[in-house]
Amino acid sequence: MYYNTHIHTFKHEDVPERFLPFRLVRWLAKNKHSKRLIWLLNILIPFTDKDLLSRYARFLEIGKFKSQEVIFKECQKFYPENTRFVVLPMDMKFMKAGKVPRDYTKQIEELGNFAKTDPNVIPFFAVDPRREGVFDLLKESVDKWNIKGIKLYAPLGYFPFDKRLYPIYEFCQENSLSVVSHCSPYNLVHFRGSKRELELLLEDAIYPILNPGKSKKLLCANFAYPENYRPVLEDFPNLKICLAHFGSGSYWEEFLDHPGEKGNWFKIIREMIEKYDNLYTDLSFTMNNKELYPLIKILFENNKLAKRVLFGSDYYMVETKSNERRFGLDFRAFIGEKYFTQIAKENPERFLNIAKPANIKFGSSTNANISSQNMANTYY
Ligand SMILES: [Zn+2]
Repeated sequence: MYYNTHIHTFKHEDVPERFLPFRLVRWLAKNKHSKRLIWLLNILIPFTDKDLLSRYARFLEIGKFKSQEVIFKECQKFYPENTRFVVLPMDMKFMKAGKVPRDYTKQIEELGNFAKTDPNVIPFFAVDPRREGVFDLLKESVDKWNIKGIKLYAPLGYFPFDKRLYPIYEFCQENSLSVVSHCSPYNLVHFRGSKRELELLLEDAIYPILNPGKSKKLLCANFAYPENYRPVLEDFPNLKICLAHFGSGSYWEEFLDHPGEKGNWFKIIREMIEKYDNLYTDLSFTMNNKELYPLIKILFENNKLAKRVLFGSDYYMVETKSNERRFGLDFRAFIGEKYFTQIAKENPERFLNIAKPANIKFGSSTNANISSQNMANTYY
């Protein structure tokens, strides 16, 4: 059994009306020739970020499928049969980017019901502390649909150490639910309210503000800043938290060019993993840049780090179809079976608190000692 611990299956109707920056893109979403039009636009308009439009194209193409099940099946076909997927929903109601056509409760209901019919789907629950009754909704969802963890997306406008999240963390810790939290800067998905509203939200920051006076997109990096997780990791030592995207591809590239530079999120997460046994990260950005593969392989030589990295692809937020397959196959071939098994099987099972069936005999006292020690090393 292998695991992809980071995919998305939400639909267009789960995304706020002003989420995509151009009205044009929104219009394209409704147009049945959207793919060809985007191809044409790509040629006609010199976009500064050349990936952006193809990213939208991908989003438009997949997000308009009939159901989360169809979107999931689209992803599943790129992977071996014995693969399970952590599906991360999104609650984008409070990012102030307009009305969300379908309420989040309907999104989680659809996901939960679908997950019940397919053992390869591991559903998570998106938590936004601003949603009224979110804790009750989480508890209900855990009962109904066997939710295995929660998804956070701090750049939408809250800090991970927000006290409103504390009872939820407590509940997750007690019930062996894990946390996947988006942790990369300068993302398109961020708080879109006024600058004043954003400044007010940022008043709760516990570290000096990054990019003061800059754009909302840059300022929202303050919510996701990895150091913000220190209090949570310390207050909930048995709560497993994955800071998704390992600081982002851009910080990896910056590290290759300027390894000594301070404030690099990749370096911060790497150092934090040394300190906190409950901290994980995932590689859901690397498919964009094969040049980073060697760095990953070198990193895995550090045993402690290799035990905390999860295989996640961020389907379908990546640019092209081939990437999904490339991530599954090329990456696996490059890092080799030993490390692949570690990040796509052993680590996810530990992260998701999925106990392995015990095939260890507790008969003789020597065996018992060895096996309990092994279990302590492996599963806690
Ligand atoms: Zn994602």
